[in-house]
Amino acid sequence: MASKAVWMRCGLMAGLIVCAVAMLNTGLSAADTAPGRDPKQPVDEAYTAKIAKYTTEPYFTSPLVNYLPASKTVPTPEAVLGDVAGAPGILPYSAQVYQYMRMLEKASPRVKVFSIGRTEEGREMIAVAVSSEANLAHLDENRAKLAKLADPRTIHLNDADADKIVDDAVPVYYITGTIHSTETGAPTALMELAYRLAVDDSRYIQDIRNHVITLITPIVEVDGRDRMVDLYRWHLAHPQENYPPLLYWGHYVAHDNNRDAMAMTLKLSQNVLNTFVGWDAQVLHDLHESVPYLYDNTAGDGPFNAWVDPILTNEWEILGWRNVQDMTKFGMPGVFTHGEFDTWSPGYLMFFAALHNGISRLYETFGNGGADTEERTLQPDEYSRTWWRQNPPLQKVLWSQRDNNNYEETGLLTSLHFFSDNRAMFLKNFYLKAKRSVTKPEAEGPAAYVLPANDPRLGAQAELLNVLRLQHCEISRATSAFSVTVPVQKTSDHRKSSGEATGEKSEKKAEATAKTKTVDFPAGSYIIRMDQPYSRIADALLDYQYWSPDDPQKTPYDDTGWTFGELFNVKVVRVTDTKVLDAPMERVTTVAPPSGVSGTGTVFAINNNADTALATLRYKLKDAQIEAAEEPFDADGHKFNRGSFLVHGASSDDLRHAVSDLGLKAYGLGAMPSVKTHPVRAARVAILHTWLSTQTEGWWREALDFMHVPYDYISTQTVAKEADLNSKYDVILFPPVGRFVSPDLIINGLSTDWGNPLPWKNTPETPNIGKLDSTDDTRPELGWDGVAHLQNFVKHGGVLVTVMDTANLAVALGLTHGVTVAHTPRERIIGSVVRADIVDSTSPIAYGYGDQLSVYCFNGPAFDVSNIAGRGGFRRLGPEINGRPTGRGTLSDPDFVVGRQNEAAIEEPKVEPWQAEPVTNEELRNGVGVIPPAERPRVIFRYADSHDLLVSGLVEGGDEMAQHAAIVDVPMESGHVVLFSNNPIYRGETRGSYSLVLNTILNFDSLNAGRKLDKQ
Ligand SMILES: [Zn+2]
Repeated sequence: MASKAVWMRCGLMAGLIVCAVAMLNTGLSAADTAPGRDPKQPVDEAYTAKIAKYTTEPYFTSPLVNYLPASKTVPTPEAVLGDVAGAPGILPYSAQVYQYMRMLEKASPRVKVFSIGRTEEGREMIAVAVSSEANLAHLDENRAKLAKLADPRTIHLNDADADKIVDDAVPVYYITGTIHSTETGAPTALMELAYRLAVDDSRYIQDIRNHVITLITPIVEVDGRDRMVDLYRWHLAHPQENYPPLLYWGHYVAHDNNRDAMAMTLKLSQNVLNTFVGWDAQVLHDLHESVPYLYDNTAGDGPFNAWVDPILTNEWEILGWRNVQDMTKFGMPGVFTHGEFDTWSPGYLMFFAALHNGISRLYETFGNGGADTEERTLQPDEYSRTWWRQNPPLQKVLWSQRDNNNYEETGLLTSLHFFSDNRAMFLKNFYLKAKRSVTKPEAEGPAAYVLPANDPRLGAQAELLNVLRLQHCEISRATSAFSVTVPVQKTSDHRKSSGEATGEKSEKKAEATAKTKTVDFPAGSYIIRMDQPYSRIADALLDYQYWSPDDPQKTPYDDTGWTFGELFNVKVVRVTDTKVLDAPMERVTTVAPPSGVSGTGTVFAINNNADTALATLRYKLKDAQIEAAEEPFDADGHKFNRGSFLVHGASSDDLRHAVSDLGLKAYGLGAMPSVKTHPVRAARVAILHTWLSTQTEGWWREALDFMHVPYDYISTQTVAKEADLNSKYDVILFPPVGRFVSPDLIINGLSTDWGNPLPWKNTPETPNIGKLDSTDDTRPELGWDGVAHLQNFVKHGGVLVTVMDTANLAVALGLTHGVTVAHTPRERIIGSVVRADIVDSTSPIAYGYGDQLSVYCFNGPAFDVSNIAGRGGFRRLGPEINGRPTGRGTLSDPDFVVGRQNEAAIEEPKVEPWQAEPVTNEELRNGVGVIPPAERPRVIFRYADSHDLLVSGLVEGGDEMAQHAAIVDVPMESGHVVLFSNNPIYRGETRGSYSLVLNTILNFDSLNAGRKLDKQ
């Protein structure tokens, strides 16, 4: 093991890349530039000839994949495809890919297929293990060894014991393909890769086969794959016509399925993580196809995620640069690492590995979105030579799916070979990363996160803990009360200081100087210990993020903040005091909030803490009468918040079952409390989508499905046709279309004057398409009829919920008297968590919420409100608010005019930026533009003051957004348009703000409750 000796000399210090280069001289030979085939093994000549035929340039392949070894017993991909992998015009369905993998399993003892779960639409997901017969025969023993490295507590963190295991364990390299359904090449590349690994007797492949278990999930997004194949077949059948873009990649979302690695809402995330963790794999290598020709983007630009182990970030560089080096030697152009991608957000699928002590990797190769061979012309930023791309892609090429498969397979094989050669180092690193995760409390902190038992939002707390459970984190619960010392935060820090959750002992005065204070936690509090192997993922999700506006990275690749405690509206205390680990506690495997029915009576009260389960309950107890209290009240010794439910007419058995399932507590009352109420009805809800993009609304469908809130799923075309929307719906939710979609596209769609119809329909030709929704032609959108129908719907009592770009649209269309969108050119809030302050807690939209709420914002529109139709936010000439003109006196001691008696000035009312200026007497003189008080916009939440706005992530130019209205209820005749500047339902991460939408739904016909009208 010469390479290992090199590593030992270098140690794990800064010279890792130098070491990697040094290794070239020790571990590899000249054969490396042209790895030798086994001369005794015949080549499948016909297959090999077709590989050459479909490869468009000799330098778009490598000695590793420009032939296929023959086998008398093992079928090649041709057996299923009818041609070679990557052949033009051939895109296999998932069933064909699985059929082939199972043929391999049958024909070779070196292949085993495992079912790893189902998708949302019930399709199977698989993982295919390829390794030597011996390795596959001893999978369980090997897994037991890897498990000890994965959890070093089992060997008492003993490095010598770890070294023994490292010496004879076989590592697992997990490859995942086609998470993005429009990126179509991976399945055929992985079919052929599996064949090569099982059959090829060259020294190069034997090295991999004997020393690595290659685990392959050929298709991650199976639902979307089958639809993409449908679409491609439709294209082949109509070669002269345009074809529609793939509208539903997965059941819910498109490329955001690769942003679910935090909240784990999708089946594919759960299945892949369970597989990665279940196998104790070392690498998760995810295949994408959007960059020419091979971009290993794991070694991207900064900033790197702050919670990953530097051992990992160095591994990224080692693997990435070595990959580039190997393929450069093969003469393949356009292979590079580094590049613009930053590795800050942990939302990507590959990040399962990064935060579970493995190695995350991601390839972007070059795909044509189908299997056509096409001329491709690149943009300058794609073909230019940079320091990290010395051999860039060509400006113009003929590109085939086979070329793409050549790059994918060559990259993977060189990676597998290098990994195999250095398996001892990578296994030892795997152990070291796990060990450093376990020793985190002393080494770096924190020691634990505590979720206190006295949090009023125990439902949301349980949901957050369940996300951590899905992440395979260990969760403990305190069996008695305990206390810890926490640092006192400076007042300029987050207003919700960590001690606020519970009883603090330090004196108010002393607090100003004290550096620490004692915090008590009650029994039943949950503790996420940081001395566990998967501490890093918990830390990354629960901690705060700060992205400096001065960061050299000016274009964050994705969200910059995600703090889960804030977005779930749950109290989470970061504890560095290691004493917390000595608190009496027990491990728990399930988490459910305390629930049940206490007391008896004809009326049952359920407190409102903005718990999403309340909406589920409303729809579950269809026949029960439920009222919402419009004011807080006390009953039988319990305090109830505004919006609390008063249930009658439900059988106590039904109620008991429902609240137990949902984690709610109901209190039987002797009589209806004397508080003003209104009915909470099970509104008829529609989610409105365009045919432009279905991703962002997909998260809304996911959330409503998850909460069992029923809805109809309708398109802008339905709205354009349906004149009487009120006969079908009470509430229409119009989630964001997408960040850059213009009102023009939402209203006009694509012109039907040119091109051909673009159907999205279920037909024998496209059996997987058109099941969620369908149309003969996706080009038309809302149209002016649709706009009129929506307006009519609202005027007749309907509620239209609009969000970010659809809120902009509602304002632009004149559906919201008195609201304008402020111009915010300097604002940069890139997927950040920001603070909103409550303005009107009597609004049903705010039921259950406190004074502040953290919300997700992506450069959301900043609303201004006015009582005068058509007038923007108040920007007046003359002195600034609370200012005065130049003259005698001080700011508060006013001016005088020489030579006359000076009367005290009439005091101008103080107006905050989120408020409308009160209507003046002057404006009421022939007040044609004055909006009647009952029709004026009602601001429910506003963005916090500038210095308080940032919770997590990047906020630049925040003063432009600060204090502006964030959530506005705009009445129109009998109905309402509700505007959200934030996205309240996003990626399963914003569960703390879901109830803003649910409240709107449940109180749709009483949204004016609590409203105080202006006098004039
Ligand atoms: Zn992709």
